[in-house]
This record gives sequence, structure tokens and C-alpha cells, in this order.
Amino acid sequence: MGKFLRAGLLILGLMAGGTAQAKASHATIALTFDDLPALTILNDQPYINYLNATILRGLKRHHIPATAFVNQGKLGEKDRAQQITVLKSWLAAGMDLGNHTYSHESPNQLGAEGYIADIERGEPVIRDLLAARHRRIVWFRHPFLETGTPAAVKTEIDKWLHAHGYRIAPVTIDADDWEFAEPYDYAIARHDEARRKSIREQYLAYTTEAIRWYRHAAHNLFGRDIAYVMLLHATRLNADCIDDLAALLKRENLKPVSLATAVRDPAYRTRDPYSGKDGIEWQERWSMELHKPLPWDSFPDVPKDIELEYDKVDRDR
Ligand SMILES: [Zn+2]
Repeated sequence: MGKFLRAGLLILGLMAGGTAQAKASHATIALTFDDLPALTILNDQPYINYLNATILRGLKRHHIPATAFVNQGKLGEKDRAQQITVLKSWLAAGMDLGNHTYSHESPNQLGAEGYIADIERGEPVIRDLLAARHRRIVWFRHPFLETGTPAAVKTEIDKWLHAHGYRIAPVTIDADDWEFAEPYDYAIARHDEARRKSIREQYLAYTTEAIRWYRHAAHNLFGRDIAYVMLLHATRLNADCIDDLAALLKRENLKPVSLATAVRDPAYRTRDPYSGKDGIEWQERWSMELHKPLPWDSFPDVPKDIELEYDKVDRDR
């Protein structure tokens, strides 16, 4: 993410200074969970049911609202009825469900027409579940945060989403949880308790650093904390870490709010001018619009051993 900009902005980033430490101030954050019913390398319905139930119990216990994004194409890969029960459990817990396309393909591959068809194909199940609660689909999250390239493709997709009542769910904190999650599944699968524990610790340490960096980024762009929107995935790692994540937010003075509340922050009215092929989060997009550099020199990298293990373990995300 954004590596292509980092080198060029290094000097500017250094000049902008690494001193805007936001840790002490209070801000709000909305949590979002992608790739429902689950992102896992383990082909096991009880595992999926367990991780969703654990995440939801944790969110409720800590009074954290969340919006979760569904790939309807995943429902048939396992026990469809149980997969739909998982989705229902999110709504029953007071959470919201959004559309993450049917097949989790990139607009860069599908083109505008194919991508829009994939969004429409991703609607029926969540539309019906929401309708049963007198609600409708509001949120759309782009797979891989890829919003379409070139500009004409992005514009066509944006127009379609707008005309169909969708709001794009932006991301302003991305701690690459997916990269830790698959090695974590793999450690569980081979009963490697030591590795499982170390991945968990690395993940939580990295997430703390990433949150601080994105807050630092917001200070560079807006001179203040914004209401953040954090990208997470429906994984066993997040299920097992849900109490730690809640504690982390508390420690960092971040109060959980809903996605709808977070995006009321005027920062989210900033134009997103980016129509390149990379899946980048919204602060990087806004840095282009505002012509203000992000502090890439201090960007925390995912630990090398996690990156290597992910590459080995990943089949598809
Ligand atoms: Zn996704």
C-alpha cells in the first residue's frame, strides 16, 4: 500500500516531523469487518461459526458497534444455511451488514460493467435479511480497496453506487490484519501453540503501531484526529484477540462509534482523486487531494516473518 509514493515523500515526511503524538487525545473509531462469513484458510463450518460468535460476543461485551461486509459468493462454498445463520447473527447482535461484492474480484480485472454486475449479484441475501428487519443495504466496501482504474471506470462505478443508494465505506486505519490471520489459522491447523501465541502478540503490537501511525497521518492532513474507520476481517485471529483489541482502543483513547457516525466527520467530505490500480486507504487518497504528504518514513512494516509465512500459506483472499 502506497509503497510507490513512499520514496518520493520520504524527505517531505521527515520535514513534516514525527512529533505529532496523538496518543493522549480522545477520538472516535468505527470498526468494520470484511469478507463475511469468514476469511480463513480452514475449510470448516464449525470454525467459521465459532469465530463469528466469538467476535460478536466480544463486540457486545465491550459495547462496540460494527459494520460487516459480505461476499455472497462464499455462502455456497460451505454449508449455505449455516453461513446465512452467521450473517443473521450479526444483525441479531445489533450490527450492520454491507455489500462487498459477490466474488471479491477487483474492478481492475472485471471492468466497470463486470464489477457492477458482481455488486448486484452480491445483494440478494443481505437485502432480504435487512428487509426482514425493515432496513436496507447502505454500505459498500471495495474488495482490496481497489476503486477502479482508469478514472472513467471509477466514475462509472461511483455513479452506479450513488444511483442505487449505496455509500462507499472508506478506510482510514488499515493494520493489515489479513496478513497475520492466515499464518494464525495455519498455526492452529498444525497445533503449533507457540507460533499461534507469537503471531497474536506480533499482531497486537503491530496494530498498536499502525493505529498510532494513522493518527499521526490524520494530524498531517487535518491538524487533528479524525473519526477513524478501521478495516478488519472476520477471522479467527480477531476472534481470539477481540478483548485485547477492545483494551487497545481504550488504552489509545479511541471510543467506538458506528460507521454512519464516523463518516459524519467533515474529513470524509474530502474528494478522493485517486484512480490508479493500487488498493489504498482513504488518508493516502486525501493526501493527494490536499497536497500534503503522509509520514511514510515512520510507517510500520508488517514483520518480515509474517509476510513470508503469509506468502507460503495464502491460497486466495
Ligand atoms: Zn475483502
